[in-house]
Amino acid sequence: MQSVAAVAENTAFDVARRRADFPILGKRVYDKPLVFLDSAASAQKPQSVIDAVNHCYTREYANIHRGVYWLSVRATEAYEGARVKVQRFLNAASEREIVFTKSTTEAINLVATSHGAAALNAGDEIILSQLEHHANIVPWQLLRQRIGIDIKVAPIDAQGNFLLEEFEKLLSPRTRLVAVTHTSNALGTITPVDEIIRMAHAEGALVLLDGAQSVVHGPVDVQALDVDFFAFSGHKLYGPSGIGVLYGKADLLSAMPPYQGGGDMIRRVTFEKTEFADIPSRFEAGTPHIAGAYGLSAAIDYVSAIGMDAIAAHESELLEYATQRLQEINSLRLIGTADDKAGIVSFELDGVHAHDIGTILDREGIAVRVGHHCAQPLMDHFGITGTVRASFGLYTDKSDIDALVQALGAVREIFD
Ligand code: PLP
Repeated sequence: MQSVAAVAENTAFDVARRRADFPILGKRVYDKPLVFLDSAASAQKPQSVIDAVNHCYTREYANIHRGVYWLSVRATEAYEGARVKVQRFLNAASEREIVFTKSTTEAINLVATSHGAAALNAGDEIILSQLEHHANIVPWQLLRQRIGIDIKVAPIDAQGNFLLEEFEKLLSPRTRLVAVTHTSNALGTITPVDEIIRMAHAEGALVLLDGAQSVVHGPVDVQALDVDFFAFSGHKLYGPSGIGVLYGKADLLSAMPPYQGGGDMIRRVTFEKTEFADIPSRFEAGTPHIAGAYGLSAAIDYVSAIGMDAIAAHESELLEYATQRLQEINSLRLIGTADDKAGIVSFELDGVHAHDIGTILDREGIAVRVGHHCAQPLMDHFGITGTVRASFGLYTDKSDIDALVQALGAVREIFD
């Protein structure tokens, strides 16, 4: 197994070395080297994460929490150890504030269902933003159907910047919750969360951040942010799919009713009634993704050894390079040029459908995402049905961007 020390030993950001940690990047597709530019959808996995999942199943696998035998005790320690690792990674005050879910989507549904039912009433307002992924829209619409809350939408400008002044105007004593993305998956916009949280709190509203993209692109400190809820997915952070995290302040989680019922979330069950377990177990009904916790733990070790600041700096350099190079292509329009952006570029090519571009790039071994990126209201805002999106990871190299630019030049020639 590759040691964390081996990763940490290399302090300067050496992308060639990092690429060697990801076996899939050596693959050829259609007999061309793979150029993977879809990390925002799901990141590839380093060998250490693959090894950790493999280690769980080959050496330590058993169900957790209830077994008295060695394997179960060991797997339980690893699962709970992963919780502590996430706590430190986010700088949460306690591991009780870390709930394992299957994804960001489930984490947001958990808050909408549980906190929504317990703390929100008909006529209460919540504020989302125009930038949201469907995962941070639909759960609130379901809550609206159930209890009659009102949903307001904070606007953005033509570049994709979050408009703080307009947001402030939406806040009122009826605002109970602000649920916004920390980083837009479709445009890369990084939202001004310090100000959003300060303004929302001043009005007595709680804040949930959709951190699916932000946790990958730079350091997150939930205590410094003073955010109330924060959600992310393991698979975008170089870990396995099927495991995600909800961070919630302990007093808020403690006041929330269970989201699902079943084993592991109870203290005592009779046919008459059930006493629920404390947080976080209360929100983890049933057998969780045990091997996923091993993998997520290894992923956090991996990115922490490199350093989230170093990863952010690398991606920021790539973003600058890609933005510059893509503009060399005739009639390419960048969608989303906010002042503060993560390593995501979205664009359209005049007269060429995004799906055609995606298909032609695929034959060159280049994996990009095309379409609405689960952000249809955002596409509506720009009056388009979709974009081509290239998104970067810590293993992305300038040569990946060069390959993209070259292939787009060829697409342009075909359609001119
Ligand atoms: N929020 C954002 C900003 C995302 O980019 C995504 C996934 O692309 C999600 C939420 C949903 O993540 P998941 O499918 O892992 O639940």
